[in-house]
Amino acid sequence: MRFTPEFMLSATNEAHFPVEAKTYNAPEIAFLGRSNVGKSSLINALLGSKQAHTSSTPGRTRAINFFALHEGSGDKKKIRPSMIFADLPGYGYAKISRSISAEWPSFIEPYLAERETLALAVCLVDTNIPPQPNDSQLIEFFKAMLKPYLVVGTKSDRISGNVLAKSLAALKKAHGVSEILPVSTKTEAGTKELWSRLQSVME
Ligand code: GDP
Repeated sequence: MRFTPEFMLSATNEAHFPVEAKTYNAPEIAFLGRSNVGKSSLINALLGSKQAHTSSTPGRTRAINFFALHEGSGDKKKIRPSMIFADLPGYGYAKISRSISAEWPSFIEPYLAERETLALAVCLVDTNIPPQPNDSQLIEFFKAMLKPYLVVGTKSDRISGNVLAKSLAALKKAHGVSEILPVSTKTEAGTKELWSRLQSVME
């Protein structure tokens, strides 16, 4: 299926959260991860555009950036969005931080805990580095809240098959999850599989 992405808004408080998700019953998919995990690259790859390249846009990086995905293109583009992507601020900037929430603006946790339209949280972890405690903390949060999440392992092209398999096994063990989907935006490995997982939340 072909989608036309549209940047909606940057939310810096709860009053900004878009109503379209509810109005159109469009599932929202949140993308989360440490800074530099490859989140913008992955969102850009999924959207087929450079819309998520936010680092050079002041103000956007501490905000939740919302994108509407409309089925079709050109004149055939549907007005009703089929899906909404929410790009959350990266965490892990501060070397010493008691928790992710200590670092994040205060509206982020309520968003994750209370947003009715949040259909799936995509938690990104880097396959090239050892398991990170703040990633575990985030995954634990979704488990405790009984919210649907999917753990995706980024930059899978940087390591070879056997090393990647070992890294995925270590990440699964440390984060207490049964599955991690490896992806690469360089080789596009895993991106089709990820798309089909995202589309399945629309059904
Ligand atoms: P963000 O801070 O999480 O948004 O991360 P970026 O998308 O800006 O990526 C951080 C760095 O990792 C950049 O130098 C990217 O080129 C690199 N990167 C992102 N995805 C991949 C990938 O799949 N493979 C490789 N080899 N590098 C990647």
